[in-house]
Amino acid sequence: MKIAVLPGDGIGPEVTAEAVAVLEALGLPGLVLFTGDVGGAAYHRHAHPLPEETLDMARTADAILFGAVGDPTCDALERHLRPEQAILGLRKHLGLFANLRPARVFAGLEHLSPLRADIAAGLDMLIVRELTGDVYFGAKGQRTNDAGEREGWDAMSYADSEVRRIAHIAFRAAEAAGLPLTSVDKANVLETSQLWRDVVVEVAAEYPGVTLDHMYIDNAAMQVVSHPDRFGVVLTGNLFGDILSDLASAAVGSIGLLPSASLGERQTQFGTFGLYEPIHGSAPDIAGQGKANPMATIMSAAMMLRHSFGLEAEAVRIETAVSRALADGILGGDLGGSHGTAAIGAAVRERL
Ligand code: NAD
Repeated sequence: MKIAVLPGDGIGPEVTAEAVAVLEALGLPGLVLFTGDVGGAAYHRHAHPLPEETLDMARTADAILFGAVGDPTCDALERHLRPEQAILGLRKHLGLFANLRPARVFAGLEHLSPLRADIAAGLDMLIVRELTGDVYFGAKGQRTNDAGEREGWDAMSYADSEVRRIAHIAFRAAEAAGLPLTSVDKANVLETSQLWRDVVVEVAAEYPGVTLDHMYIDNAAMQVVSHPDRFGVVLTGNLFGDILSDLASAAVGSIGLLPSASLGERQTQFGTFGLYEPIHGSAPDIAGQGKANPMATIMSAAMMLRHSFGLEAEAVRIETAVSRALADGILGGDLGGSHGTAAIGAAVRERL
């Protein structure tokens, strides 16, 4: 089980070190870790944020554990040399088309959510967002319309195969977790959404154990903040997913507790190839101070065991250890506590 660890910049190396220590504490046989340079750290050593050797390492790995990129000393560089280009480059080169973002309010941390505590308590959902298609990647331009007025336009489209492959990812996740699946679209107005819905219904026939329903995006946005407990797994396209996943993340109320996965089409002998990273960035304001909360990265490693290695029980072990640490008051500065990076990592390992 080959894992490419790409710590990156700022707090990236601090939080990935704790996630690696948690993986090592599980004592999984056959686990091999490689470390590569990415982001500003890579620029300073190789004059490129995504050097060829890092890309090669990523391509030959079964999964990638990514920290964060972003380095203020690189702000003046040309755009293609900026650290943030590394993550875009990895997504593109590795064909990572599915973004999985769990959003969960842990027991005892309801007060961090901007939602009312009794509503926040019900927030525990997984958003599966398509990442490489939709209106973001369609033809676009500006033109003069028949009235002589300037007009901007963007073409929205989804091909059958694009919907089908992301739908399979969402159904597999729902099936494995025993959760219902809600497909979010705007099929009352958009042809793209009508095709989306038709394909999702077709794919559903292969997953008789998963309960499927459909919801329009406007309603879904309202439900996420009024009745989040009605969602299990949410499947949606790039545009709607962009907004909905940020809405759900904001509803959790802490940046240090949000993991993510980006999955590709490649199947390895263990599972689906993917890149796993916390939602947060490199946090230069607290970098090097031992203050960063590593829990989002630790939970990203749990997602990696689940999706790329089929190790559900080990993934749950890590997630349960994190919940127990939180319940025991092991809180980082981002959660109003005073525990540092190393103390939080050690507390999670003790509870595995
Ligand atoms: P950020 O997520 O790095 O930080 C936002 C705020 O949250 C900061 O106050 C930071 O201290 C705090 N924070 C973030 N993670 C934390 C953690 N684990 N524990 C405790 N506190 C935490 O966002 P930003 O400040 O807007 O961006 C900083 C840099 O990161 C920029 O260069 C940006 O481009 C980059 N960035 C990278 C990624 C990525 O690598 N995928 C994502 C977002 C931003």
